[in-house]
Amino acid sequence: MIAIVQAFRGIEGLPAGVAAGVSLFNFFLFFFGFRKMRPYSPREIYRKNVYKKKVRKEVQYEDGARHKCCVCGRTDITNPELEFRYCSKCAGDREYCQDHLFTHVHVKE
Ligand SMILES: [Zn+2]
Ligand SMILES: [Zn+2]
Repeated sequence: MIAIVQAFRGIEGLPAGVAAGVSLFNFFLFFFGFRKMRPYSPREIYRKNVYKKKVRKEVQYEDGARHKCCVCGRTDITNPELEFRYCSKCAGDREYCQDHLFTHVHVKE
């Protein structure tokens, strides 16, 4: 009990400037701590939306196919023996079967 009183007096004895500094420090600590703890920053929400879009794109074909050739329209369901690849030179995410991957005309936007 005496120790508590002494500690309290110790705080009371601090110059007003130091006390103000401490409370200011606490405020910043709280402020930045709070910012860090926020579940989703705008940047994270943006990243999540991009990720969601990508996931949706992968399963957009009506017959359940995950890959579809832009040229002939064959999918990994109709032709499971084919390999499908995205073309890195075409605009957007365009997928081609192994027969058209190297023969198609690149799409530019
Ligand atoms: Zn094809
Ligand atoms: Zn291409």
